[in-house]
Amino acid sequence: MIALEGITKRFADHTVLDGIDLSLERGEIIVVIGPSGTGKSTLLRCVNFLETPDAGRIQVGDLQVDATHASRDDILALRRRTAFVFQNYALFAHKTALDNIAERMIVVDRLSKSDAHDRAREILERIGLADKADAYPASLSGGQQQRIGIGRAMAAGAEVMLFDEPTSALDPEWVDEVLTLMKQLAAEQQTMIVVSHEMQFAREVADRVVFMEGGHIVEQAPPETLFTNPQDERTRSFLRKVL
Ligand code: ADP
Ligand code: MG
Repeated sequence: MIALEGITKRFADHTVLDGIDLSLERGEIIVVIGPSGTGKSTLLRCVNFLETPDAGRIQVGDLQVDATHASRDDILALRRRTAFVFQNYALFAHKTALDNIAERMIVVDRLSKSDAHDRAREILERIGLADKADAYPASLSGGQQQRIGIGRAMAAGAEVMLFDEPTSALDPEWVDEVLTLMKQLAAEQQTMIVVSHEMQFAREVADRVVFMEGGHIVEQAPPETLFTNPQDERTRSFLRKVL
């Protein structure tokens, strides 16, 4: 479904990603963990060219993009096949919940306004916010705002959803409702790459946990294996701090 090959990213003389290889089957869910500043966000952002990789290849479904020869059309096609959920929700403050979800369907997918609104209402239903269609983000809780952020990504109908620490900006009381929605998507076989420090979520939902440090994937394994029997000292040291 998705394969990253040799993804490399430098900021000035700092190599943040040093040739990352990672692939997922359709419906697979991986959780990426690792110390802060280790390139987890940069890796996700490279997948859809929010950051331009310096080298490597990205394949999503039948689309193949070489980082060094990516055309504008390649990048747009990649962005159509992937959907990003941001740590800080990144909602449009001046748009209602409904319009936040409908926006991409109108602008990117070229649906008519009424079709986009119908579909956005279905999504509001699925994320449990049908009664908030006309609400503006500022009037919603952090948990509700992030559910809209996820709803907006769902609206993309993307093959792969990318989550960058979707609960880390939330007050603790709102974390569960967001994780519950993500579990619902997981149960629907949505392919997902999730950067998260929610180890319980990783245990319950991930098919594979990937530990990154120093621009490399140090180790990856199913959660029960990685958490109970980590092979690398760097993984053990990280897990001692977070578990
Ligand atoms: P993580 O998500 O694992 O905390 P990031 O991917 O955000 O790590 O950052 C990895 C490293 O890259 C950090 O050292 C960060 O300071 C650096 N970095 C990230 N984005 C930029 C940028 N736009 N310009 C310069 N350095 C950056
Ligand atoms: Mg990050």
